[in-house]
Amino acid sequence: MKYYDFAVIGGGSGGLASARRAASLYSKNVVLIESKRNGLGGTCVNLGCVPKKIMYNAASLNELFAVSSDYGFDVENNGHNWRTLVENREEYIERLRKIYERNLDKEKVDVVFGSACFEKPNILRVTHEDGTSSFLTAKNILIATGGYPIIPSIPGSDLGVTSDGFFGLKELPKKAFIIGSGYIAVEIANVLQTFGCNTTILCRYGSVLRHFDEVISSTVSEHMEKSGIRIIRNASVESLVKSDSGNIDVKFSHQNLVETEKDNELVIWAIGRAPNSNYLNLEKANVTCDENGCILVDEYQNTRCPGVYALGDVCGKALLTPVAIAAGRRLVDRIFGGKSDSKLDYSNIPTVVFSHPPAGTVGLTEEEARQKYGSENIVIYKTRFNGMFYALSKNKVPTAYKMVCSRDDEKILGLHLVGPSSDEILQGFSVAIKMGATKKDFDNTVAIHPTSAEELVTMR
Ligand SMILES: Cc1cc2nc3c(=O)[nH]c(=O)nc-3n(C[C@H](O)[C@H](O)[C@H](O)COP(=O)(O)OP(=O)(O)OC[C@H]3O[C@@H](n4cnc5c(N)ncnc54)[C@H](O)[C@@H]3O)c2cc1C
Repeated sequence: MKYYDFAVIGGGSGGLASARRAASLYSKNVVLIESKRNGLGGTCVNLGCVPKKIMYNAASLNELFAVSSDYGFDVENNGHNWRTLVENREEYIERLRKIYERNLDKEKVDVVFGSACFEKPNILRVTHEDGTSSFLTAKNILIATGGYPIIPSIPGSDLGVTSDGFFGLKELPKKAFIIGSGYIAVEIANVLQTFGCNTTILCRYGSVLRHFDEVISSTVSEHMEKSGIRIIRNASVESLVKSDSGNIDVKFSHQNLVETEKDNELVIWAIGRAPNSNYLNLEKANVTCDENGCILVDEYQNTRCPGVYALGDVCGKALLTPVAIAAGRRLVDRIFGGKSDSKLDYSNIPTVVFSHPPAGTVGLTEEEARQKYGSENIVIYKTRFNGMFYALSKNKVPTAYKMVCSRDDEKILGLHLVGPSSDEILQGFSVAIKMGATKKDFDNTVAIHPTSAEELVTMR
């Protein structure tokens, strides 16, 4: 049986970053096990951030056509070829996978394709595509197996697809029904609607993006509705039924009535993700999970079993690529680099929703801050305006910013942005907030004019 210093289960964001660092920086003998033959890069590269951002870029470009004539351009938009977009996107993703393969090869990481599970705390069995199994042993084992999109068990639910199915679409549907209110639901709805698909989104509760600050959820939903997306609030789906035309009817309860949205070409479940922890035989390593199947780890990514670690989406906390990467790099620095205190600080993690317009958030929402510190101990600064880019256009795209501060020293506890370029603006401000910036620090910074971001250092 082959021995390794470090075995990594899962070739996604967290697994790749950890394996490569252990091999390249600390010269460790590393194996990376990935269950899908075309899976290097994991969810982010194949079915998440990367294809999503390409679709977002395409939709953003489409929107720019509408504004270009206001700037004097005589440009005709003679239509869009969805298939070309998807083919070019997939070619790009294939190139990324090849780059990963080459880098792993260069860094002498053994890559094994197959599904791994525990035989003993330090022994893994890998089941390959052809049904054969192999075994390997490692002193340190990292579980970075990510998650999968949830499909509920209601009648006809398998007529719907998930975000994975959205990325597999070869044609733009004429009518789509999206179930869910999180960022994935919102991002997909925006892309579909921008390209002319009649899109409905159904939320179980009162708004989309309800875990975000109210300034984001209200501004995004307002603009979604203005752009023609129908939002059904406080509703739950009862069944999906194949209609006579071969499309899908969605039956849902709403305000004590059962309603039907008929003839959807596409129904997408975007109701959340569950951890890939089921088939790992975790009991053989004494690794434990919470009631949702998320692997339980301490702040250093240690599971209950010495020498077995877990990170990324399979742990169910801050499901983001940079989080999995950062946790992996710090873990490797700790176990192989002698940095005994190395761990990821999960506070103030910035994140962006690629809605139209995009939204970005870091730190506490206003509601969280009021609950944590009491309303009397916080101050809120807000602004709302139309950016200069749309000054010449009738159709404006809103910008709204909110800063949540503590009252005594005006330390910034949370920053919430929605509006064009918020996705790019947030990163730099997150550095300042992570360093403990106050409103005074922002006020002391000279504005960059004319930009939207300058409002953040001139808020009153
Ligand atoms: C539609 C969508 C959009 C997203 N957009 C963003 C975004 O804009 N920004 C952002 O930061 N994050 C985004 N995410 C989240 C991001 O993709 C994940 O947080 C990230 O990929 C998690 O990395 P991971 O290493 O934990 O798991 P993954 O990247 O999911 O990798 C896990 C890997 O493990 C493999 N695996 C599973 N079980 C086994 C096994 N038993 N043996 C061997 N291999 C196994 C899987 O095949 C997979 O390749 C998005 C996700 C989705 C679905």
